[in-house]
Amino acid sequence: MKAIVVHEFGGPEVLKLEEIPTPKPAAGQVLVRIHGVGVNPYDTYMRNGTYAVKPSLPYTPGSDGAGTVEAVGPGVGKVKAGDRVYVAKTVTGAYAEYAIVLESQVHRLPEKASFSQGAGVWVPYGTAYHALYHSAEANASETVLIHGASGGVGIAGVQLARALGLTVFGTASSQKGLDLAKREGAHQVFDHSKSGYLEEIMKATGGVGVNIVLEMLANVNLSSDMKLLSTNGRVIVIGNRGEITINPRDLMGRRGSIRAFTLWALTAPEETEVHAGIIAGLENGTLRPVVGKELPLAEASRAHVEILEPGAAGKIVLLP
Ligand code: NAP
Repeated sequence: MKAIVVHEFGGPEVLKLEEIPTPKPAAGQVLVRIHGVGVNPYDTYMRNGTYAVKPSLPYTPGSDGAGTVEAVGPGVGKVKAGDRVYVAKTVTGAYAEYAIVLESQVHRLPEKASFSQGAGVWVPYGTAYHALYHSAEANASETVLIHGASGGVGIAGVQLARALGLTVFGTASSQKGLDLAKREGAHQVFDHSKSGYLEEIMKATGGVGVNIVLEMLANVNLSSDMKLLSTNGRVIVIGNRGEITINPRDLMGRRGSIRAFTLWALTAPEETEVHAGIIAGLENGTLRPVVGKELPLAEASRAHVEILEPGAAGKIVLLP
């Protein structure tokens, strides 16, 4: 089978398309024919060797993908050959024509979602779901600022928050991203590349502030996020690429809090809930992953460059 293999940590050029043996599922494992691979920013940090999780070399990247079950190992009862599925983490890596996953890592993909959409389910929707429901403990009628609403996690957050009954503000830096956030459910959108947009957000709340911020770039925005909070407001740190100085006093008068998590640390019951919620949303049409660009698997290095560029508009998906 064809797969992307990384033999040394480094820039996008270390992603090599190679022919390697197709793996066979052992007991408790499932072999999935991958039809779409979701590219996530963390794939690039891991490839650089700078991420908290450092795989042993060589490795095939990717936790997100969708396709059909090709074969199951002994003892697997959850899925059978031919089933449409999405994967949430893998054993052998999703940047490949086939991937081995544990039975617990494979989930039914409702008919309404294409394989490319299914490739954009786990990290974006898992993160947005956990951020809103578990971390922020969001309630209908609250206001959420999705700071970075044009990318994978942001669009998922917009759709989930809107369905939950929140007032949704979203930000992006391109007209395409702003239009997308609005189309997917944001009540109001703001351009985070323009000066004065934070004042516009505060004005849009009538000066009260937002209850929740889902933050995609905390090293840039955490300090100003704190100043946007209403009483008992919560900033949820999702993305962060460096250090920032903050003044805790900005939280004190507001009884504000900063919460943070990584998706890898979800408990098994949390994961069960997240997948049940996501599958229901995919089924009833509330959740509609947005595929911004499809590229052949051979262009994985291009995908790793583009995922970090400004102007996000949905998911980048690789087609094996
Ligand atoms: P993505 O699809 O590449 O989207 C990135 C988003 O960040 C875009 O909406 C982009 O907007 C926005 N952004 C860029 N500059 C910004 C700024 N100055 N202020 C606010 N937003 C800005 O990435 P993603 O998959 O949505 O992930 C977003 C971040 O969360 C990444 O850093 C990722 O590593 C992290 N993440 C963390 C977890 C976790 O477990 N904690 C899970 C998933 C993702 P424009 O392009 O329109 O400027």
